[in-house]
Amino acid sequence: MTTCVSSAELIQEIAREFPGFRLISKRESPFSLLLDRVLKLVTFGAQRAYVTHYHTVIGKTLYTPDTWASTGEVERMIVLRHERIHLRQRQRYGLPLMTFLYLVPFFPLGLAYGRARLEWEAYRETLRATAELLGVERARSPLLREGIVRRFTGGDYGWMWPFRAQVERWYDAALAELTRLEVSS
Ligand SMILES: [Zn+2]
Repeated sequence: MTTCVSSAELIQEIAREFPGFRLISKRESPFSLLLDRVLKLVTFGAQRAYVTHYHTVIGKTLYTPDTWASTGEVERMIVLRHERIHLRQRQRYGLPLMTFLYLVPFFPLGLAYGRARLEWEAYRETLRATAELLGVERARSPLLREGIVRRFTGGDYGWMWPFRAQVERWYDAALAELTRLEVSS
Protein backbone atom coordinates (compact mmCIF):
# COMPACT_ATOMS: atom_id res chain seq x y z
CA MET A 1 0.00 0.00 0.00
CA THR A 2 1.35 3.38 -0.91
CA THR A 3 1.92 5.96 1.77
CA CYS A 4 2.25 8.88 -0.63
CA VAL A 5 0.21 11.91 0.30
CA SER A 6 0.35 13.76 -3.01
CA SER A 7 0.47 12.95 -6.71
CA ALA A 8 3.89 14.63 -6.97
CA GLU A 9 5.20 12.32 -4.28
CA LEU A 10 3.67 9.29 -5.98
CA ILE A 11 5.28 10.31 -9.29
CA GLN A 12 8.63 10.37 -7.49
CA GLU A 13 7.95 6.97 -5.95
CA ILE A 14 7.13 5.53 -9.38
CA ALA A 15 10.29 7.13 -10.82
CA ARG A 16 12.34 5.37 -8.15
CA GLU A 17 10.83 2.04 -9.22
CA PHE A 18 11.06 2.90 -12.94
CA PRO A 19 13.95 5.34 -13.51
CA GLY A 20 13.16 7.65 -16.41
CA PHE A 21 9.43 7.70 -15.68
CA ARG A 22 7.92 10.99 -16.85
CA LEU A 23 4.66 12.63 -17.82
CA ILE A 24 4.05 14.22 -21.22
CA SER A 25 0.89 15.93 -22.40
CA LYS A 26 -0.65 14.11 -25.40
CA ARG A 27 -1.52 17.48 -26.89
CA GLU A 28 2.22 18.25 -27.11
CA SER A 29 3.20 14.82 -28.44
CA PRO A 30 3.06 14.38 -32.24
CA PHE A 31 3.17 10.59 -31.75
CA SER A 32 0.09 10.69 -29.52
CA LEU A 33 -1.76 12.91 -31.98
CA LEU A 34 -0.97 10.43 -34.76
CA LEU A 35 -2.13 7.50 -32.60
CA ASP A 36 -5.31 9.43 -31.91
CA ARG A 37 -6.07 9.56 -35.64
CA VAL A 38 -5.36 5.82 -36.04
CA LEU A 39 -7.60 4.93 -33.08
CA LYS A 40 -10.47 7.04 -34.42
CA LEU A 41 -10.12 5.19 -37.69
CA VAL A 42 -9.93 1.61 -36.41
CA THR A 43 -12.74 2.06 -33.88
CA PHE A 44 -14.93 3.88 -36.40
CA GLY A 45 -14.91 6.95 -34.18
CA ALA A 46 -15.90 5.11 -30.97
CA GLN A 47 -12.54 6.05 -29.42
CA ARG A 48 -12.44 9.79 -30.03
CA ALA A 49 -11.42 10.84 -26.52
CA TYR A 50 -7.85 9.48 -26.64
CA VAL A 51 -6.24 12.93 -26.40
CA THR A 52 -8.90 14.57 -24.27
CA HIS A 53 -9.64 11.89 -21.63
CA TYR A 54 -7.35 8.83 -21.73
CA HIS A 55 -4.08 8.17 -19.94
CA THR A 56 -1.61 5.97 -21.78
CA VAL A 57 1.68 4.46 -20.70
CA ILE A 58 4.14 3.75 -23.49
CA GLY A 59 7.65 2.79 -22.46
CA LYS A 60 8.37 4.76 -19.30
CA THR A 61 6.24 7.72 -20.28
CA LEU A 62 2.73 8.45 -19.07
CA TYR A 63 0.96 10.43 -21.79
CA THR A 64 -1.66 12.59 -20.14
CA PRO A 65 -4.93 13.86 -21.63
CA ASP A 66 -6.29 17.41 -21.60
CA THR A 67 -8.28 16.61 -18.43
CA TRP A 68 -5.07 16.05 -16.41
CA ALA A 69 -4.65 19.78 -15.72
CA SER A 70 -8.04 19.98 -13.99
CA THR A 71 -7.87 16.56 -12.29
CA GLY A 72 -7.89 16.65 -8.48
CA GLU A 73 -5.07 15.26 -6.34
CA VAL A 74 -6.83 12.08 -5.25
CA GLU A 75 -8.07 11.26 -8.76
CA ARG A 76 -4.53 11.76 -10.06
CA MET A 77 -3.19 9.33 -7.48
CA ILE A 78 -5.80 6.73 -8.48
CA VAL A 79 -4.82 7.11 -12.15
CA LEU A 80 -1.10 6.88 -11.31
CA ARG A 81 -1.65 3.66 -9.38
CA HIS A 82 -3.54 2.15 -12.34
CA GLU A 83 -0.75 3.14 -14.71
CA ARG A 84 1.95 1.82 -12.35
CA ILE A 85 0.37 -1.63 -12.83
CA HIS A 86 0.96 -1.31 -16.59
CA LEU A 87 4.61 -0.36 -15.96
CA ARG A 88 4.99 -3.48 -13.78
CA GLN A 89 3.32 -5.64 -16.41
CA ARG A 90 5.81 -4.41 -18.98
CA GLN A 91 8.63 -5.34 -16.62
CA ARG A 92 7.09 -8.75 -15.92
CA TYR A 93 6.40 -9.73 -19.52
CA GLY A 94 9.06 -7.71 -21.36
CA LEU A 95 8.24 -5.19 -24.04
CA PRO A 96 7.75 -7.51 -27.04
CA LEU A 97 5.29 -9.83 -25.24
CA MET A 98 3.51 -6.90 -23.60
CA THR A 99 3.13 -5.15 -26.95
CA PHE A 100 1.86 -8.36 -28.49
CA LEU A 101 -0.64 -9.03 -25.70
CA TYR A 102 -1.81 -5.46 -25.72
CA LEU A 103 -1.80 -4.35 -29.32
CA VAL A 104 -1.87 -7.31 -31.67
CA PRO A 105 -5.27 -8.57 -30.56
CA PHE A 106 -6.62 -5.13 -31.49
CA PHE A 107 -7.12 -6.66 -34.92
CA PRO A 108 -9.71 -7.96 -35.23
CA LEU A 109 -11.46 -5.68 -32.81
CA GLY A 110 -13.25 -7.35 -29.97
CA LEU A 111 -12.24 -10.56 -28.20
CA ALA A 112 -8.91 -9.07 -27.19
CA TYR A 113 -8.46 -11.33 -24.19
CA GLY A 114 -4.79 -10.43 -23.60
CA ARG A 115 -5.56 -6.73 -23.43
CA ALA A 116 -8.66 -7.36 -21.33
CA ARG A 117 -6.70 -9.29 -18.69
CA LEU A 118 -3.93 -6.67 -18.58
CA GLU A 119 -6.51 -3.91 -18.20
CA TRP A 120 -8.45 -5.90 -15.66
CA GLU A 121 -5.39 -6.22 -13.41
CA ALA A 122 -4.92 -2.44 -13.62
CA TYR A 123 -8.59 -1.72 -12.93
CA ARG A 124 -8.47 -3.89 -9.82
CA GLU A 125 -5.79 -1.47 -8.63
CA THR A 126 -8.10 1.43 -9.56
CA LEU A 127 -10.74 -0.12 -7.29
CA ARG A 128 -8.24 -0.74 -4.49
CA ALA A 129 -6.89 2.82 -4.73
CA THR A 130 -10.44 4.22 -4.74
CA ALA A 131 -11.28 2.24 -1.59
CA GLU A 132 -8.08 3.34 0.17
CA LEU A 133 -8.17 7.00 -0.82
CA LEU A 134 -11.89 7.72 -0.96
CA GLY A 135 -13.42 4.98 1.17
CA VAL A 136 -14.92 1.62 0.32
CA GLU A 137 -18.36 3.17 -0.22
CA ARG A 138 -16.99 5.09 -3.22
CA ALA A 139 -15.48 1.87 -4.56
CA ARG A 140 -18.97 0.35 -4.37
CA SER A 141 -20.50 3.16 -6.45
CA PRO A 142 -22.70 1.76 -9.27
CA LEU A 143 -21.55 4.67 -11.44
CA LEU A 144 -17.91 3.64 -11.11
CA ARG A 145 -18.88 0.02 -11.84
CA GLU A 146 -20.78 0.97 -14.98
CA GLY A 147 -17.95 3.22 -16.16
CA ILE A 148 -15.31 0.53 -15.75
CA VAL A 149 -17.44 -2.31 -17.16
CA ARG A 150 -18.08 -0.18 -20.23
CA ARG A 151 -14.35 0.24 -20.81
CA PHE A 152 -14.31 -3.48 -21.53
CA THR A 153 -17.55 -3.89 -23.44
CA GLY A 154 -17.59 -0.61 -25.38
CA GLY A 155 -15.59 1.00 -28.15
CA ASP A 156 -13.06 2.94 -26.02
CA TYR A 157 -10.62 0.04 -26.11
CA GLY A 158 -11.98 -1.49 -29.29
CA TRP A 159 -14.68 -3.67 -27.64
CA MET A 160 -11.89 -5.68 -26.05
CA TRP A 161 -14.14 -8.01 -24.05
CA PRO A 162 -17.80 -7.49 -24.94
CA PHE A 163 -19.14 -10.07 -22.46
CA ARG A 164 -20.81 -7.84 -19.90
CA ALA A 165 -21.86 -10.64 -17.54
CA GLN A 166 -18.30 -11.93 -17.28
CA VAL A 167 -16.77 -8.49 -16.71
CA GLU A 168 -19.41 -7.84 -14.03
CA ARG A 169 -18.41 -11.10 -12.34
CA TRP A 170 -14.73 -10.05 -12.34
CA TYR A 171 -15.78 -6.70 -10.92
CA ASP A 172 -17.96 -8.05 -8.17
CA ALA A 173 -15.34 -10.61 -7.12
CA ALA A 174 -12.73 -7.83 -6.82
CA LEU A 175 -15.17 -5.73 -4.82
CA ALA A 176 -15.99 -8.62 -2.51
CA GLU A 177 -12.27 -9.18 -1.95
CA LEU A 178 -11.80 -5.49 -1.05
CA THR A 179 -14.70 -5.64 1.38
CA ARG A 180 -13.25 -8.77 3.00
CA LEU A 181 -9.88 -7.01 3.40
CA GLU A 182 -11.63 -4.08 5.02
CA VAL A 183 -13.52 -6.28 7.45
CA SER A 184 -10.38 -8.16 8.47
CA SER A 185 -8.19 -5.05 8.95
ZN1 LIG B 1 -5.11 0.71 -18.23
